[in-house]
Amino acid sequence: MEYRRFGSTNLNLSVFSLGLMRCLSSPEIAIATIDHAIRAGVNHVETARGYGKSEEYLGLYLNSPTAVPREKIFITTKLPPTSGSSLMAEWIDQSLANLQTEYIDCLAIHGINTEQHLQWVSEADGCLAAIQTAQKLGKIRHLGFSSHGSLALILQIINTDLFAFANLHYYYFWQRNFPAIALAQQKDLGVFIISPIDKGGRLYNPPEVLQKLCQPLTPIEFNDRWLLNQQQITTLSFGVSCPAEIDLNRLQQKSVTATDILPQQLENIEQNLDLHGRNILKSDRCSQCNLCLPCPETINIPEVLRLRNLAVGYEMTDFGQYRYQMFENAGHWFPGKKGDRCTDCGDCLPRCPEKLDIPSLLRDTHQRLNGLPRRRLWENE
Ligand code: SF4
Ligand code: SF4
Repeated sequence: MEYRRFGSTNLNLSVFSLGLMRCLSSPEIAIATIDHAIRAGVNHVETARGYGKSEEYLGLYLNSPTAVPREKIFITTKLPPTSGSSLMAEWIDQSLANLQTEYIDCLAIHGINTEQHLQWVSEADGCLAAIQTAQKLGKIRHLGFSSHGSLALILQIINTDLFAFANLHYYYFWQRNFPAIALAQQKDLGVFIISPIDKGGRLYNPPEVLQKLCQPLTPIEFNDRWLLNQQQITTLSFGVSCPAEIDLNRLQQKSVTATDILPQQLENIEQNLDLHGRNILKSDRCSQCNLCLPCPETINIPEVLRLRNLAVGYEMTDFGQYRYQMFENAGHWFPGKKGDRCTDCGDCLPRCPEKLDIPSLLRDTHQRLNGLPRRRLWENE
């Protein structure tokens, strides 16, 4: 296992971090899963108040006979933004009690997804005041954030200089947040990539064409390497529900860091993927420039068409349906309306440098990807 400095926190984290979002079936299974991951070299475990009983289960692990000493494991937990400091102070104490620990290594404000959330964090007597008090008391060591918001909002959050690390979405198949990753590096924030396998394209269940294009790597390995080749990225999360789901080969692969595949080979895979997508999509390919926005119907045009790019270009229909069906069902976690809301007003058309017939492509995407609505895996925030 490779370890990297987590930005200005100066923590030395394993390049893979265990996320507990799915590890909720029983305390025994959670403890066994954490134990198994730690034996594989993982030293960073991520939980959140919103992930069911996962804080409590991690607390049980920390106090179990098999636990490594507290100073050998780094814990991130996440609490949502709130307008008042007293509620945040209560939540912090509750997390410490759940985790049965004296301190939280990394507290992330979970989902600064809107301007209002950021305002709650930064206003006088907002939730930051409680966090700073907890930091002075030694209850929290480092503060970070996660965001599913716009790139502009994420850049604004980083530029507040309040945070030592960022939990971000960024994958080969979704590179919109690259400027945020670059700014995080410039400001020495640790970078934690959220869910690269699942949100990065459901890469555990790749279509045949994708498997072929990524050879000699699997799509998961390709995405891991593509991410970890960027030195500004510290760690990638992996979420499992039991010890058997931990892919030891992946965690321990020397490959991730390198020697058995040359950078040129990695570049070749990238080129193959890019070329294949362009050849299949032809003049219907959305280049993800975002220039079509805003849409008066608040359709997230680039994201809808990204899902179409993936479904048509790489047969990633399963992933496309999974994400598309979250529009209009997941609030600020996945904003924007579905493609069938287009009124043909035409506002976006002159702004598209690819001259795409956006309304037709949106309707086509809706037909391909719409189905029963989905919600997020955890929803109790
Ligand atoms: S044509 Fe459709 S997608 Fe384009 S701006 Fe109008 S409503 Fe939005
Ligand atoms: S302007 Fe055109 S190419 Fe750019 S994101 Fe919008 S639809 Fe895609």
